Amino acid sequence: MNQRWRLIALWLLPVGVALFFGWQILGNGGGSSLAQGSPTVAPRNAAVARMTYGRFLDYVDAGRVTAVDIFDGGRTAVVEASDPDLDNRVQRLRVDLPGLAPELINSLKDKGISFDIHPAKAAPPLLGILGNLAFPLLLIGSLILLARRSSNMPGGPGQAMQFGKTKARFAMEAETGVKFDDVAGVEEAKQDLQEVVTFLKTPERFTSVGAKIPRGVLLVGPPGTGKTLLAKAIAGEAGVPFFSLSGSEFVEMFVGVGASRVRDLFKRAKENSPCLIFIDEIDAVGRQRGAGIGGGNDEREQTLNQLLTEMDGFEGNSGIIIIAATNRADVLDSALMRPGRFDRQVMVDAPDIKGRISILKVHSRNKKLGEDVSLEAVARRTPGFTGADLANLLNEAAILTARRRKEATGNAEIDDAVDRIIAGMEGKPLTDGRSKRLIAYHEVGHALVGTLVKQHDPVQKVTLIPRGQAQGLTWFSPDEDQMLVSRSQLRARIMGALGGRAAEAVVFGHAEVTTGAGGDIQQVASMARQMVTRFGMSDLGPMSLEAGNQEVFLGRDLMTRSEMSDSIASRIDDAVRKIVQSCYTDTLALVNANRDCMDRVVELLIEKESLDGEEFVALVSEFTEVPIKERFTPVLGAS
Ligand code: ADP
Ligand code: MG
Ligand code: ZN
Repeated sequence: MNQRWRLIALWLLPVGVALFFGWQILGNGGGSSLAQGSPTVAPRNAAVARMTYGRFLDYVDAGRVTAVDIFDGGRTAVVEASDPDLDNRVQRLRVDLPGLAPELINSLKDKGISFDIHPAKAAPPLLGILGNLAFPLLLIGSLILLARRSSNMPGGPGQAMQFGKTKARFAMEAETGVKFDDVAGVEEAKQDLQEVVTFLKTPERFTSVGAKIPRGVLLVGPPGTGKTLLAKAIAGEAGVPFFSLSGSEFVEMFVGVGASRVRDLFKRAKENSPCLIFIDEIDAVGRQRGAGIGGGNDEREQTLNQLLTEMDGFEGNSGIIIIAATNRADVLDSALMRPGRFDRQVMVDAPDIKGRISILKVHSRNKKLGEDVSLEAVARRTPGFTGADLANLLNEAAILTARRRKEATGNAEIDDAVDRIIAGMEGKPLTDGRSKRLIAYHEVGHALVGTLVKQHDPVQKVTLIPRGQAQGLTWFSPDEDQMLVSRSQLRARIMGALGGRAAEAVVFGHAEVTTGAGGDIQQVASMARQMVTRFGMSDLGPMSLEAGNQEVFLGRDLMTRSEMSDSIASRIDDAVRKIVQSCYTDTLALVNANRDCMDRVVELLIEKESLDGEEFVALVSEFTEVPIKERFTPVLGAS
């Protein structure tokens, strides 16, 4: 309440000042004629320019006056006149009149000018005085109010003192309504967490045999994999309240605020036990103390210390379990992971194909899917998608269905939604011309090399319809969820990525290659470098030649990179270049050898705009005699 009054007073102060001065100007600035019967009804706009009476009559004769308002018993008028020098813009001018002359009224009538006479209204003098006094009084009043309120506060007028307490930044849900059934594709995590539900529901079972109930569980996994959802499901299954807040909300500008929030949170939780506290993004507070550039951050460390103190403070069987989520377990302070704190870690990874199928099932429960839709095929097309991505995918497909006024979501909608999520919105097709030809060759280059190199994933679609940043696109579908990628597969991918540039160079010449291959080349560089530095796939041998995690700032491994000697660094560069060069040579040869086939496919692609994988493979095998997939195996000796 205090807070609210102080705010109102603070607001009234400037408003009062502004109104007071505004009033003064209105009251006194109206000019001599207006001041006579003070206070009088002012002309509609007290700040208009003036015009002489003679000029006014000229204007009336010239037909430039459009409207006249007469005030003060005929002593003043506000005239609207158009100005031919200014594109006939209408001006408002004030004129002092000699009085209400009937001739003037008549000539206004003759000219058809609209006019109005406003009677002078004298306000009662007392009201006038009160009116003049009202704002100064208000001003003084609000000053007094402000002074009184501030002096009552222990901390004086400083608002900063209020931050930690008044803003309750954590949310509480008495019932989350989420059940384990709503979370799919993370079976191991669910099994691990089932135990936590039992702890919350029947703690006696554990305490009676002398077991200590764990206090904290850390969920580790990339964004969108369902960590928040899992935490809610635990609370939902156990039927306990769910307190949640995000680590980044702990960290404020003022030292000590985060710590006081932690205290508040635990106090509320204890009042509501048994319950579950969920701390999202715990890495925002829980990073290693004293690490990174510029040393520590006082506020964060205090907050973290408070969190650790609170976790140590409550008894193991007080019925509160803390679940924290992060995607960077490696940067967390080791004190957080000690026994009695977040000593259990549960990995929540992006789902595999079976997981994706079951997540799709969960999210299609409330959607109408056509008979022809196979969730398995959708899951196959979406490796690397997280639960959140899949939920989004089905929603996009449903939106497309509604837009196309269909009864049920079909394969077409789902395919379009996948394309859109991966590559962005569809653009307008290009008009035929040289650049469309070039893009067609570029894309067919990718697709052809991808098809002809044995270890490459099969082509799924080639299209010249722009999407997002790309002018044309070639999609490949990985056969299965691959955990391990072989050296020849990596080389095949590099060749596929270089296929676009190679086709441009073969068909249009080295001088005409375009910037369109920029993205491909970046990918190639990163794949080749990783082959050398991470996977030991070069003549440098099986050595790890890079810092484990490349943390750019605030990390703890900041300095390790510079330990590498210059000679190693240049040998890495050499090895990378060698891989890329030999792949490019092979790709150029492959494209050259299949030039006829490429020309024919490009003609068809330009005609049809899109070719799906089967069409493409059928075409290619028509033009090349050797069965596809037996054509080319990369020679590994080169790198
Ligand atoms: P995280 O906290 O890991 O970033 P969320 O739990 O916030 O991810 O997930 C966001 C949304 O994505 C959820 O509300 C849910 O609709 C969907 N989702 C994510 N993972 C799953 C899953 N494993 N099963 C079902 N839905 C999921
Ligand atoms: Mg989350
Ligand atoms: Zn490309």
